[in-house]
Amino acid sequence: MLPRLIFHPDYRLAIHGPPPFLSDRSAALLALLEERGLADPARLRRPRPAGDSWLALAHDPAYVLAVREGRLDAPRRRRLGLPLDDALRHRALAAVGGTVLAGRLALEEGLACNLAGGGHHAAAASPAGFCLFNDVAVAVRVLRAEGLVATVLVLDLDVHQGDGTAAILGDDPGVVCVSLHCRTNYPSHKARSSLDIALEPGTGDREYLAALQRFLPSLLDRLRPGLLFYNAGVDPHRDDRLGRLALTDRGLAERDALVLESCRRAGVPVATVTGGGYGPPEAVVARHALLFEAAAALPAW
Ligand SMILES: [Zn+2]
Repeated sequence: MLPRLIFHPDYRLAIHGPPPFLSDRSAALLALLEERGLADPARLRRPRPAGDSWLALAHDPAYVLAVREGRLDAPRRRRLGLPLDDALRHRALAAVGGTVLAGRLALEEGLACNLAGGGHHAAAASPAGFCLFNDVAVAVRVLRAEGLVATVLVLDLDVHQGDGTAAILGDDPGVVCVSLHCRTNYPSHKARSSLDIALEPGTGDREYLAALQRFLPSLLDRLRPGLLFYNAGVDPHRDDRLGRLALTDRGLAERDALVLESCRRAGVPVATVTGGGYGPPEAVVARHALLFEAAAALPAW
């Protein structure tokens, strides 16, 4: 089935990051999905950008205000790694709104995909590693505060540890954060998730998929979460410019299929965010499209 897709025009705003940061991946991904018949324009939804009250559920209100007013101090600007301008701010606010909407639509329909998001390094009071706001942490808090879901599983398969998400949501009852990442990738100081699996550099398809298979189906059975947020970063790919794992296209495709099928079998709704991916734009966007091919191959949720 073709999932609900979430896209906002502000996802197109140009972000001036250093290479290999890709600023226009969302729009390029949408175009590729349309070209391949993997996006139904009738099922495309536009989110409302996040307001301060949502952001304050996961972030320090003083930090939210400093970002909005463009007066973040130099150390925190350095941690961001991108120039903090209006385009970045608007895009980040739209992406947070998109992840909240993905969560809502997943609860209604089983699967929904934000074509942005995955700002998993952003902490409560600081940006980090290209991430201004932690969209998944905000979305978990918004949906729980609204009483829409009790237990949430955050499954972070980006090659970098979801340190910000783990730090923000670590003490939340009813929230379980799992990160499967490369041990030697950023961040050098890892946070403590509910479950961390740190793979050695160079780990390939077979070992990676076995690691995922070892915990995911049994965790879903045991926890019975009402919703799963999936960070489907494609930077575990062997040709990724920053990631140090060694998955092939096929390995990434099998990873995405394994996540979606396990959740569908367990009756757990899934909201996806794009996460990271670094390298030549066409190659990276094609890797992101693998998730949508896996989704299209599934029967209705
Ligand atoms: Zn990453």
